[in-house]
Amino acid sequence: MEVLESRLTAVRRCCAALPDTRTGDNWQYTMADIGLAAFAVFFAQSPSFLAHKRHLVEWHGHSNAQTLFGMAKIPTDNHIRARLDPITPDHFTPLFAEILTALEQSGGLTAFRRLDEHVLIALDGTEYHRSTEVQCRHCATRTRTGQPTEYFHTVLCATLVAPGHDRVVPLAPEFMVPQDGHAKQDCESRAARRWLARHGAVYARLKPVYLGDDLYACQPLCEAGLATGGHFLCVCKPDSHPTIQEYLTGIDLLEQVARVKRGRERVTHRYRWLCAVPLRGDDTALNVNWFSIEIVNPKGEVTYRNSFITDLPVDASTVAELSACGRARWKIENESFNVLKTKGYHLEHNFGHGTATSLGRARHPQPDRLCAPHRLRPRRRRLAPGPRHARAAHPLLPQSAGADRLSGLPVLDRTPGNARLRAATATPARLTDRPASQARRSIRSSAQSRIENCCDRTD
Ligand SMILES: [Zn+2]
Repeated sequence: MEVLESRLTAVRRCCAALPDTRTGDNWQYTMADIGLAAFAVFFAQSPSFLAHKRHLVEWHGHSNAQTLFGMAKIPTDNHIRARLDPITPDHFTPLFAEILTALEQSGGLTAFRRLDEHVLIALDGTEYHRSTEVQCRHCATRTRTGQPTEYFHTVLCATLVAPGHDRVVPLAPEFMVPQDGHAKQDCESRAARRWLARHGAVYARLKPVYLGDDLYACQPLCEAGLATGGHFLCVCKPDSHPTIQEYLTGIDLLEQVARVKRGRERVTHRYRWLCAVPLRGDDTALNVNWFSIEIVNPKGEVTYRNSFITDLPVDASTVAELSACGRARWKIENESFNVLKTKGYHLEHNFGHGTATSLGRARHPQPDRLCAPHRLRPRRRRLAPGPRHARAAHPLLPQSAGADRLSGLPVLDRTPGNARLRAATATPARLTDRPASQARRSIRSSAQSRIENCCDRTD
């Protein structure tokens, strides 16, 4: 309870400092009351403002507004929307760093340490508003063939995760909204680079390893993570990384096998890796370390397969933990997005879209009876739910575009499609030098000599 009171005090202090744009006579509510009233909707997991007010007024015979949140008065929902609409999300950013600092000082961060004192920060985008009706000037748009234009909002989230830990810690988000000087719509890649530029230095003391899906396994994002003092560990799909596939082709990869007990059965984890592979096919390519994991059940069937790239050292002593950390990326979807959307926090519910900032939130097919702000009232009839507006369920936990495939072995007589590889094959280089122009022949030779050192481990 002491921790809760401390955190609520921080939220109250942050809300009290919010800019107040009121110019009229309606000053009966403080910005702290207004901000806390909005926060309380999500804290109490209220499905609507109506239910929220009931929660606030009376809960177990007490006034939650006063006893829990320290609110003097409860503003109306329309007043909350009108006052908070012009306020940018950046005003709440310090709260996330404050919560992480408190976790660090209390020793709670220790349980999140992996890979020799690193922490894992998963980055991923998610959509929280989609409509063909409700929109604002910050909405992104898309038009599918034969379908009406869709207006949607997305946000890049950063979440502290750890394999084997059943909790996650959300960090400051970065909203994808139109940026000054950019004609194109904002995207997840640009939002991720903005997030790293804004917050990377703050979290550098934690020795972060940034986890990302295949979208993040590209040079600009990997370099952005390294530039902030962090590391990267990203999913690397074969189809989107032809240069890496060229280097993997025809090589006897270093391998380690481990038997792992899972319930009553024992499964086999098979790891393969190759270090110092160019991420792309030009002379400025970043060298990365590639590894993969296969899980084989007792029947010999492959039940899971994925591959990753990282700047961290990959060898027999680290590849198993690196694989576990890479797989922990899914926690941002399973234990963050899924919880926010389906476990009572109603992230996609229409509490009001707003017009002034990027905080527009609406997508639920059943808009809250009181949720439509005064600006949207002329559209209210069109917001009414009905079969005509029924939409197919949006997948909350999108599946991977496909299990990663290891390239077939070996295809040695094929001329490399990559110019660097073609040139390099005529000039053998040492693996230990790990230059970007390393020859496939030399890698194969070195890798085959090192394969003798690979080990089998049974536990
Ligand atoms: Zn919008």
